[in-house]
Amino acid sequence: METTSSNHNENLSEKPIDTSVYESFRRKIKGEVILPGEPDYGSARRLWNGMIDKHPAVIVRCKGIADVIHAIRFAREHELPVAVRGGGHNVSGNAVIEGGMVVDLSLMRSVHVHPGEKRVWAEGGAKLGDIDHETQAFGLAVPIGVVSRTGIGGLTLHGGYGFLTRKYGLTIDNMLSATVVTADGRLLYADKNENADLFWALRGGGGNFGVVTSFEFQLHPVGPEVWIAQVLYPVSQAKKVLQAFRSYQQNWPDELSGIAVFWNAPAEEPIPEEFRGTAVIILVACYCGDVREGEQAIQPLRELATPVADFSSRMPFLEAQQIFDPEYPDGRRYYWKAINIDHLEDPVIDALIGHAAKRPSDLTSLDVWMAGGAVSRVKPEDTAYAHRGIPFMIGIEANWENPSEDEDNIRWSRELFEDMKRFSSGGTYLNFPGFVEEGEALIKSSYAGNYRRLQSIKAKYDPDNFFSSTMNILPKKN
Ligand SMILES: Cc1cc2nc3c(=O)[nH]c(=O)nc-3n(C[C@H](O)[C@H](O)[C@H](O)COP(=O)(O)OP(=O)(O)OC[C@H]3O[C@@H](n4cnc5c(N)ncnc54)[C@H](O)[C@@H]3O)c2cc1C
Repeated sequence: METTSSNHNENLSEKPIDTSVYESFRRKIKGEVILPGEPDYGSARRLWNGMIDKHPAVIVRCKGIADVIHAIRFAREHELPVAVRGGGHNVSGNAVIEGGMVVDLSLMRSVHVHPGEKRVWAEGGAKLGDIDHETQAFGLAVPIGVVSRTGIGGLTLHGGYGFLTRKYGLTIDNMLSATVVTADGRLLYADKNENADLFWALRGGGGNFGVVTSFEFQLHPVGPEVWIAQVLYPVSQAKKVLQAFRSYQQNWPDELSGIAVFWNAPAEEPIPEEFRGTAVIILVACYCGDVREGEQAIQPLRELATPVADFSSRMPFLEAQQIFDPEYPDGRRYYWKAINIDHLEDPVIDALIGHAAKRPSDLTSLDVWMAGGAVSRVKPEDTAYAHRGIPFMIGIEANWENPSEDEDNIRWSRELFEDMKRFSSGGTYLNFPGFVEEGEALIKSSYAGNYRRLQSIKAKYDPDNFFSSTMNILPKKN
């Protein structure tokens, strides 16, 4: 079973490097240089996805911009292919590289807030929880994802969906600037005035343009408490629930963002005994507006059928941002894909119910993410992220423990992905890219009409395709 993506930089060769060369490199680095055989190597090469098993030649845990610059220059000089590790949570495993250098940002997690200006700066290796922790101290938030250990780097560079999306847009829609170490080892600042082409490309174009050492985001007043709907319905009611879910664009305020998830009920209290471990559809939604209005806003979601259980409640936004955390431990086996769909009419719902019934693992889920709202009010050409008009995205999340189940889970995901194409006019989400096994076809379909422009910006900032181990945009001059 394959565990790597297909991207590889053919311009670079992998030559053995003398230990003394590494020793002099080590002296330049404030962070850590980890080589095969050293005590931390085994853990430093592993990612969240336990399926990924690659052996880099060197891992550089950078502790600041200077370390990143030294690392990039060293890799160039010694012709080492490079991967950049943010939070290490992309399912594809692109954050590590076989035989090359990992520029690891896990020691670069600092975050600081300017509450008066409602701005936050986060280093490129920060986790989502680091950002929420700092911003919520001031009752502020930036739209990010729903699991606190995910990295801001990868999440932002490909979009960023979460509980604030419909009100405030994708994470990239709130990006104000970024600092980037480019392939030639320079540090560039990018915002709407300076290096504006790079700033445009970073808002969706992934890790193709350099190592983002820091992001600046716009903040919004959120919380400290929000209302969260968490309602489990029996899977026999899935059609009714999804029919209600599809009407969100007419009936739901932008303050409400959510996901419908085909999953299994927990096999324990407080789930009633007859439903423990059974298939359910779970509606999870966050109302991010005035907390006094939240209960009323989510009430209709609690009355779609007779629930198996209803955990809806008012809670701190910080807590809401962690409700899924326990479901995604490090080292489990994962294969996730996504596909945009044009509508959620009954044939789509029937197809989803059919595929959900065949989930090969109880841990596996099938998710319907709502888009729309503020996401669709940005024009497709305004940022690199192209698919602004989609009403829904289907997240295919195969999660399992035993390597003997690899084939079944991956096959199920791929078949579902192929089948949903009949309801899609194109586009996937590169934060759920499988193993990028479709290569450039996947990248092209994700960027649609923005791909050519991205290729020419890539040709300007990374003409040799030095950053190729990511979801790779091939450089091409117009
Ligand atoms: C448990 C879990 C929950 C998730 N929930 C959501 C969600 O709610 N919403 C959502 O939109 N997505 C979600 N995702 C998907 C997530 O956005 C992607 O997995 C994302 O790529 C993770 O970012 P990372 O920095 O941890 O990834 P990494 O694996 O470290 O990096 C992913 C890619 O981005 C590049 N990269 C990362 N950081 C940088 C940087 N600073 N500079 C340059 N390149 C960089 C890497 O080189 C790599 O190619 C979730 C993923 C997981 C595992």
